[in-house]
Amino acid sequence: MVKKTIAIVGAGPAALLAASFIDPAKFDLCIYEKNRTAGRKFLVAGKGGLNLSYAEPLEELISKYTVSEFFTAALKTFSNQDLRNYLYKIGINTYVGSSNRIFPEKGIKPIEVLKAILEKVLSQGFEIKYEHAWKSWTKHGDLLFENDVIVKTDFQIFALGGASWKITGSDGNWNSIFRERGIDCHTFEASNCAYQVKWPKAFIDKHEGTPLKNIALSCGDKTIKGELMITRFGLEGAAIYGLSPEIRLALKQTGKVVLSLDLKPLFPKEKLIDKMDRSGKKITEILKRYLKLSKAQIDLIKDQTNRNEFLDPEHLAERIKDIKLEIVGKADIDEAISTVGGIDIKELNSNFELIKMPNHFCIGEMIDYDAPTGGYLLQSCFSMGAYLAQYLNEKENQ
Ligand SMILES: Cc1cc2nc3c(=O)[nH]c(=O)nc-3n(C[C@H](O)[C@H](O)[C@H](O)COP(=O)(O)OP(=O)(O)OC[C@H]3O[C@@H](n4cnc5c(N)ncnc54)[C@H](O)[C@@H]3O)c2cc1C
Repeated sequence: MVKKTIAIVGAGPAALLAASFIDPAKFDLCIYEKNRTAGRKFLVAGKGGLNLSYAEPLEELISKYTVSEFFTAALKTFSNQDLRNYLYKIGINTYVGSSNRIFPEKGIKPIEVLKAILEKVLSQGFEIKYEHAWKSWTKHGDLLFENDVIVKTDFQIFALGGASWKITGSDGNWNSIFRERGIDCHTFEASNCAYQVKWPKAFIDKHEGTPLKNIALSCGDKTIKGELMITRFGLEGAAIYGLSPEIRLALKQTGKVVLSLDLKPLFPKEKLIDKMDRSGKKITEILKRYLKLSKAQIDLIKDQTNRNEFLDPEHLAERIKDIKLEIVGKADIDEAISTVGGIDIKELNSNFELIKMPNHFCIGEMIDYDAPTGGYLLQSCFSMGAYLAQYLNEKENQ
């Protein structure tokens, strides 16, 4: 049997998982990466703890993506548990942290995870060519690289990433190349990023770098429980990252949005009022000792109450459950954990194939979708790669 040929452009997680699962008996495959090394953004992601995925039932996992139905098949084919099994087979044990996030076992560095995946790809007999920056197609539709190399293959897979942390190679510059071919590509925007709050000077001088733990943050009807970090720019952390689609929309429409911060999400208002019923005790002491509120939390409350309101349990309980935080902007795109924008999903069929360009596929963050932090970004990239590989393997059986 004459083997078909595949070129994958980009060597991030989506590309490497696709190559891991492509059947070498059926295909010759080469990955072309513009950097000197693979997976630079993957290594950046690992700096604060490499959160590979999230342990929860599949239906719940799928519901976290803005275009859930589009990812259903990929996530079912290669689920969070499949990812753990795959990593285990290549020598990377994983564990589920207290927050249900999945990480490599303690002591395993991100570079070791990347190396294990690369070894798997190379063990398939596939090649990775570095310093190959793809720049366009020739008039015959072959891949043309900046070093004038031309590559002709049966299938082209693009896994070029989003547009944040450009230093890692994912610069989004390919958007215009696809647009020239009539593919609808959306302008990139920051997601899962820091959001701007104009803190009072006295407050931020005192509380910059302080976490707000066990809180819930709401934007309209959507509420996320978790943690926030107070920064001079504003707020960071999983609780606000997860509200990115809603905040982005509101900022576009009106330039600002007011979020509601609940400092005691597990306590209904009535329970808070009961807790404050300690005659003789100062209210600040009650907040500290009995409600376990931090200094930063108490200052946030003080900032939004006058003296009479602060001393009135009913009003105080209401404020504890609803601190108003006005968001007036977001961080620069290059600082974001992920981006939205890129290839419109309407351009792709259910196998990630460009409808206008058969045998050309797009996978990973280069597709326009959103997902919160918590391992959902990497999981989707891994799943798209594995799913596409399975599709191509089966196609060759027919
Ligand atoms: C600070 C930070 C922390 C993160 N933390 C997490 C986390 O904990 N959990 C999680 O799930 N996700 C996390 N992410 C997001 C995650 O890393 C990305 O979603 C993921 O890497 C995207 O994978 P990808 O394969 O689609 O693209 P990328 O990883 O971006 O890879 C794309 C590759 O394509 C190459 N390329 C681009 N253009 C060309 C071209 N013209 N020619 C040749 N090659 C090209 C790039 O050099 C790059 O190597 C984090 C991201 C950042 C920035």
